[in-house]
Amino acid sequence: MQKLVIATGNQGKLHELQTLLQDLPYELITQKQLGISDADETGLTFVENALIKARHAAAISGLPALADDSGLCVDAMNGGPGIYSARYAGPGAKDGTNNDKLLTDLLPFRGEQPLVARFVCVLVYLRHANDPLPIICQGIWQGEILPALRGSNGFGYDPLFWLPEHGCSSAELEPALKNRISHRGQAMAQLKAALDTVNC
Ligand code: IMP
Repeated sequence: MQKLVIATGNQGKLHELQTLLQDLPYELITQKQLGISDADETGLTFVENALIKARHAAAISGLPALADDSGLCVDAMNGGPGIYSARYAGPGAKDGTNNDKLLTDLLPFRGEQPLVARFVCVLVYLRHANDPLPIICQGIWQGEILPALRGSNGFGYDPLFWLPEHGCSSAELEPALKNRISHRGQAMAQLKAALDTVNC
C-alpha cells in the first residue's frame, strides 16, 4: 500500500484527518512517527503555509505528504486570527488561552449583530518534495462566535463556533457530523475526488 505522511503535529487535526482518510488505500504515517518536527510557517496565506508543511514532510521522508493549514477568520477582525489561529495568544499557545484571547479581543465588537466567522481549511497533497503540480483543496465553514464556551468535542476554537442551522457549537456536534460538514470535511471531499482522477 502507498505510504502517505500526514504533515501535522496538531493532535485534534491529526485525529480528524486520520478518520477522514480511513477509506483511502494509503498507509498513513504521522510526522511524529518519523521524528519530523513542525515546519516554520513563514507564509502569509493558508495555501502558502500548507505547501511549506507538505514540502517539509515530503523532503525529509522521501514520501508523498498531505498537509492541512487551517484557522478561524472573523469578519470583525478583518479575517483574523486567520493563519495565526494556532499561535494567536503566543507561540505554542494552548487552545484555552487562544479562546480566552479571542473572547477578550471581540468584546468591543459585541452588539446586536452576530459575530460572523469562518473556519478555513487548505489541504495540499504533494507526490514528492519537488512536485510541480500539488493538489490544493479548500473548505470554508461559516458560523458565529459565541460569548462563552460550549461543548467538549473537537479542538481549538470549536467551543466558540456557533452553528445557527444546528443550534449548537461545533464542539457539541457529533464528531462524525463535524467531519461531514466542516471546512476540513469539505476540503477532504474535494481531495478524494481529485485523487480519484489522478490515480485512474
Ligand atoms: P495550523 O496548525 O497552523 O493550521 O493551525 C490551525 C489552528 O486553527 C488550530 O490550532 C486551531 O486553533 C484552529 N482550527 C483549525 N481547524 C479547527 C477546527 O476544526 N476546530 C477548531 N479550531 C480549528
